[in-house]
Amino acid sequence: MNVEANKVVSFHYSVSDGGSEPVDSSRERGEPLSVLIGHGNIIPGLEQALLGRAVGDRFEVSVEPAQAYGERRANFTQRVPKKYFDRGERLHAGDVTVLHTREAGPRTVVVLKVGSSVIDVDLNHPLAGKTLSFDVEITAIRDASDEEIAHRHAHGAGGHEH
Ligand code: ZN
Repeated sequence: MNVEANKVVSFHYSVSDGGSEPVDSSRERGEPLSVLIGHGNIIPGLEQALLGRAVGDRFEVSVEPAQAYGERRANFTQRVPKKYFDRGERLHAGDVTVLHTREAGPRTVVVLKVGSSVIDVDLNHPLAGKTLSFDVEITAIRDASDEEIAHRHAHGAGGHEH
């Protein structure tokens, strides 16, 4: 079986943005990530690199910003009331947090400045503008269930938990 749309693929990965340490690694967490293919669940460049692979394949792929988290936008900042943040009282400049927006859903942002009732954030994803290097090893591939396809995400270990 090979990776294609409507399969659930499980894989270990580590990703680096050019620094010496990986910025994220499933190996450190111990459990592979499980993803439903063909539904925009991961960045396009990584999904493209997974297509056609088989269990046991290990490969490296470099993904340009346009196929990852996009280019950085200048002055892409916003002042947001603290109440829109989880644990807004505990945030400090430089923290990465999730902002729940009505239009775009949850969005990863970087805290620039914390005021008494508002927080200034950079809306660029922390990895925007970066070329990402992935080291990927495929550990399992299976058919997705009808329910997973209806939900547009993988269920079970390493996937979405309700
Ligand atoms: Zn679901």
